[in-house]
Amino acid sequence: MKHPYIQEEHAIFRKAFRKFLEKEAYPYYEKWEKDRIIPRSFWDKLGQSGYLCPDLPEEYGGLGVDWGISVIINEELERVGSGTVGISLHNDIVVPYITAYGTLEQKERWLPKCVSGEIITAIAMTEPGAGSDLASISTTAVDKGDHYVVNGQKTFITNGIQADLVVVACKTDLRALPKHKGISLLVIERGAPGFSRGRKLDKVGLHCQDTAELIFEDCIVPKENLLGKAGNGFLYMMDKLQQERLLVAIAAQVAAEDMFELTMEYVKSRQAFGKTIGDFQNTKFKLAEMATDIEMGRTFLDQLIASHMAGEDVVTKVSMAKWKLTDMAKRISGECMQLFGGYGYMEEYKIARRFRDIPVASIYAGTNEIMKTIIAKNIGL
Ligand SMILES: Cc1cc2nc3c(=O)[nH]c(=O)nc-3n(C[C@H](O)[C@H](O)[C@H](O)COP(=O)(O)OP(=O)(O)OC[C@H]3O[C@@H](n4cnc5c(N)ncnc54)[C@H](O)[C@@H]3O)c2cc1C
Repeated sequence: MKHPYIQEEHAIFRKAFRKFLEKEAYPYYEKWEKDRIIPRSFWDKLGQSGYLCPDLPEEYGGLGVDWGISVIINEELERVGSGTVGISLHNDIVVPYITAYGTLEQKERWLPKCVSGEIITAIAMTEPGAGSDLASISTTAVDKGDHYVVNGQKTFITNGIQADLVVVACKTDLRALPKHKGISLLVIERGAPGFSRGRKLDKVGLHCQDTAELIFEDCIVPKENLLGKAGNGFLYMMDKLQQERLLVAIAAQVAAEDMFELTMEYVKSRQAFGKTIGDFQNTKFKLAEMATDIEMGRTFLDQLIASHMAGEDVVTKVSMAKWKLTDMAKRISGECMQLFGGYGYMEEYKIARRFRDIPVASIYAGTNEIMKTIIAKNIGL
């Protein structure tokens, strides 16, 4: 993988991180899938080795490196398996809310522990009654002077069980018009009175990823846990969702590349009718199509990562990458499974896990239909 933003130090970092994963992740991944959780001890190892939030400044324990390093971490984690997505969510989705909108006091309180792994984070926007239509959330936070009282329920929350700190989208002003102006972000910590976990959800794929319900019943949240300004929560989420969607696109691209490599290897060795499967014209055409899609995806994605790192407005292109690359990976997973024949349907083959894991990429971080509504609006429709 050659990226335009990759320098020699990035390549050295990738090598070191891959070596770390070969020792600490690959041998255990199947067990994590069966256990339905990535153990906390792995988070601790990531923290001790400097792989959590490395882009944070050194004063908070980070390495102060550029986001190219984060891209490499995300790519290498995805190569292990999509169930590692909660780590990317911590590093590059939730912690950036604190970095961007937190006060100095909040940053000093939380960031060093996010880097060490003592704090695992989550973001809770989705509710049983509101997903795509985020402005319609019904979790309320009532201002009681020095604290808020939060009531409501969140669902599908990544890192929901393990999280020590959750950025929660709440309505602080029920009368605000338009209604998204009434949304604020509160940081709710483990142990807050009235905060409990609901079910740990059983999913089609991403088995080792911890996804759960969160419940807030007269939950007391100190005023100093408000993130940024009251009423700005929706704007903050729209801003930070761009990097989240880019990460989903990166993961989908890597998943597609991995499936392609697995399938190339398989079709060269499996025999039928006195030939390898790769000798059939159908196989050649399928893999040629995949190689084309993957190459075009990688080219578009790399330019987009570079634009994002340069601070350009990437909303339309991120939406394009998110729907197109997740759609591509989903299609490729089915085509690769087909080329594996019956073996592709067996759990012991990685392609089967990829097939189960990939469909959610077109659902979370904003569904692909929502991506198309954003693109349509931005092209003037
Ligand atoms: C494994 C997993 C992890 C997740 N992690 C998190 C997390 O950490 N934090 C969090 O807050 N959420 C999380 N989510 C929630 C996820 O972001 C939502 O599921 C997603 O945004 C869709 O919302 P919904 O499920 O309510 O679907 P709905 O909004 O009910 O949508 C149902 C269908 O209607 C379509 N639809 C909706 N509106 C429109 C429209 N305007 N035009 C056309 N079609 C439309 C959708 O595209 C979809 O196909 C996670 C979900 C999953 C499955």
